[in-house]
Amino acid sequence: MELSEIFYSLQGESSYAGLPCIFIRLAGCNLRCSYCDTTYAYNTQFTLSIEEIIDEVKKFQSVKLIEITGGEPLLQKDTIRLLTLLLEKNYKVLLETNNSISLAEVPMEVIKIVDIKTPSSDMSDKMLWDNFKILNNHDEIKFVIGDRIDFDWALGIIKKYDLKRFQLLFSPVFEKLESAKLAEWILETRLPIRMNVQLHKVLWGNKRGK
Ligand code: SF4
Repeated sequence: MELSEIFYSLQGESSYAGLPCIFIRLAGCNLRCSYCDTTYAYNTQFTLSIEEIIDEVKKFQSVKLIEITGGEPLLQKDTIRLLTLLLEKNYKVLLETNNSISLAEVPMEVIKIVDIKTPSSDMSDKMLWDNFKILNNHDEIKFVIGDRIDFDWALGIIKKYDLKRFQLLFSPVFEKLESAKLAEWILETRLPIRMNVQLHKVLWGNKRGK
């Protein structure tokens, strides 16, 4: 498989934020979000077989939380087999995906963190809305918010597709929207939206592999 990096850090987002986690960042992305902070993942840094990836992951011993991210991990045909094997080895598997590729083949046990691209990303027209029909209750829906237009748009999407049954995650675009401002907006809605502040960036800034 084509990889960007494998590293061990604190989970920075989702309802698993704060927990030690192994990250497998697969290379390549079909989108070009305006605020992308992982442009280095567009290109392959190294390749490994699925078995070699599992060997790398085992080096973190007792850590059983793992996130497959990118880039866009579902671009590679072997990703589904990798997810399946990790589940078989009793990992709790998170998949962060940009909602432009069908989730139909993703095993149900995988916790999907579906990143809905807001207008300021310039990629909101690439969203595959039918994916909502195949999500499970444990899946999470994330919106990265750059401004008030994004915020109101996200509320409209939550209402239109009845997304309150999922864990909703809002995080501010780093160094563009003030966290306190987003917090105020969320509180006003009275909705069960979980605010993420991208913990890894608070701790380490934009440092790669963190
Ligand atoms: S989907 Fe993710 S990796 Fe791809 S361009 Fe957007 S932010 Fe970057």
